[in-house]
Amino acid sequence: MGGRGSGEWLRVGNKTTLEDTKRIDIRYMNRQGLLKPGAVGTLKWSCGGKQKGLINFQCQSEYLQLSYRYREHDREWQPIEQRIRFDRTPCHYGGERFWFLCPGCHRRIAVLCCNGPLFLCRQCYQLPYNSQQQRLMDRLISQKHELGNRIFIRYENGKGWGKKKGMHWKTFNRLHAQYIELELQWWAHAEKYIFHY
Ligand SMILES: [Zn+2]
Repeated sequence: MGGRGSGEWLRVGNKTTLEDTKRIDIRYMNRQGLLKPGAVGTLKWSCGGKQKGLINFQCQSEYLQLSYRYREHDREWQPIEQRIRFDRTPCHYGGERFWFLCPGCHRRIAVLCCNGPLFLCRQCYQLPYNSQQQRLMDRLISQKHELGNRIFIRYENGKGWGKKKGMHWKTFNRLHAQYIELELQWWAHAEKYIFHY
């Protein structure tokens, strides 16, 4: 096991390793005895000797709880808690086989990948719905900015102050309701996108 490109890069504790995308292999965790309820630990990834990621995990009988921080480009670090449910299927020769249930598509998978804020299956990261979702969210936010610039005296960084001069209150109230609605829709998508388990 181990070695570049073998797909088995995950190590636990102080020993560190990685190949590009962060992945968690349930077979490896099982072999290491980490899938017992109450097991806690840290998964680390590094690239060229530099630490690239660190995730704390806690194992329960029905799920694996992941705690980590995520940052998009140079934005603020966000704490992320992700819960990955387990599934078990009987083995031919007795015992059980462990699976993760992908939080995105709910299919049984052995390997979770992290290529953005969340751990999902490989298929979920390749499916167009992620980028569609992203486009939809981008559209909502740009509509909100457009409306914000139209109705407020001052509009900066997604926040508006004061009704624009010359605009009737009736018009302002109607457009402001639309503005709020866009924001709520954006949050609804963001929550689904970030916490969809
Ligand atoms: Zn999936």
